[in-house]
Amino acid sequence: MRIWIAAAGAALMAAATPRPAVAQQHQEGPTPPGARWAVHSWERPRPPVVAPGPERGPVPPPADAIVLFDGHTLNGWETAPDSGQPATPARWIARNGVLEINPGTGSIRTTRAFGDVQLHIEWSAPTPPHGESQERGNSGVFLMSHYEIQVLDSWHNDTYPDGQAGAIFGQTPPLVNPIRPPGQWNTYDVIFHRPHFAPDGSVTEPARITLFFNGVLAQDNTVLTGRTVYMQIARYTPHEDRLPLLLQDHGMRVRFRDIWVRELPDSLP
Ligand code: MG
Repeated sequence: MRIWIAAAGAALMAAATPRPAVAQQHQEGPTPPGARWAVHSWERPRPPVVAPGPERGPVPPPADAIVLFDGHTLNGWETAPDSGQPATPARWIARNGVLEINPGTGSIRTTRAFGDVQLHIEWSAPTPPHGESQERGNSGVFLMSHYEIQVLDSWHNDTYPDGQAGAIFGQTPPLVNPIRPPGQWNTYDVIFHRPHFAPDGSVTEPARITLFFNGVLAQDNTVLTGRTVYMQIARYTPHEDRLPLLLQDHGMRVRFRDIWVRELPDSLP
C-alpha cells in the first residue's frame, strides 16, 4: 500500500511539474518537395562532434581585406530597419575590440553592400550558458541580409540540426560540430557566392556557401534553396546584386570580433 501511494504521489508530482510542451518543443516545419527531412526536423542525424584546434588570439587580416569592425566604434554599422523605414544608428556595444549584442536594440547591418565575399568573423557565446536549444547563445550571420549561417551555443546543447551552429538555418546542418565552449572564441571563415536572377525573377544561379568553422569544413559549397525563413520552405525572391551583411539580435549577448571581408571578383564593378 505504501508503494502504491508513493507511485501515485510521484505521478501527481510529475503531472504538476511545469514542463515544456513536447509538441511545441519538437515542432517541425513542412518537408520540401523531394527532401528527406522536414524543415527543423528533430529526427535528422546530429553531426559528429569534432574537437577543433586550440583557441587562438586575433590574427591580423590580409592586406586587401575590408575591415568591418574597428574594435571601438559602430562606424560602418546601422540598425537594420523594418522594410520601408529609414535606417537608424546601431545600438550594440563596441569596446575593447569586441562587438556585443545589446539585446532588444535590433539586428545591425553594414552600411556597405556586398555580393560575393570571403568573410572572416569570430563569435563567442555568453558564459555561464543560459537557456536550451535555440534559446542559448543564438545570433546569426546573414550574408546579403537574407542568408543565415546560424550562430548558436551548440556546446552540449541539442537542437534541430538545421538550427545548430554552422547550419544554413532551416536548410542544411553543418557537416560537423567543432564548437568551442561558451566564452571561448569561434571562427567562421566563409566563401559566399550570391544568387543570380534572370530579368523575370527566376533563379539562374542559387547562392552557395562554404564554411570553415574553427578551421574545420562545416559547409562544402552548399547550395542554398532560398532566403532564410523559420518553419517554412525557403524560396528565392529576386534582389539587388549587393546587399549589407547583417548580424542578428536574437535577444542574447553574443559577442563578435575580427570581422572582415574580401570582395571576390563577381562583386567587382
Ligand atoms: Mg539565429
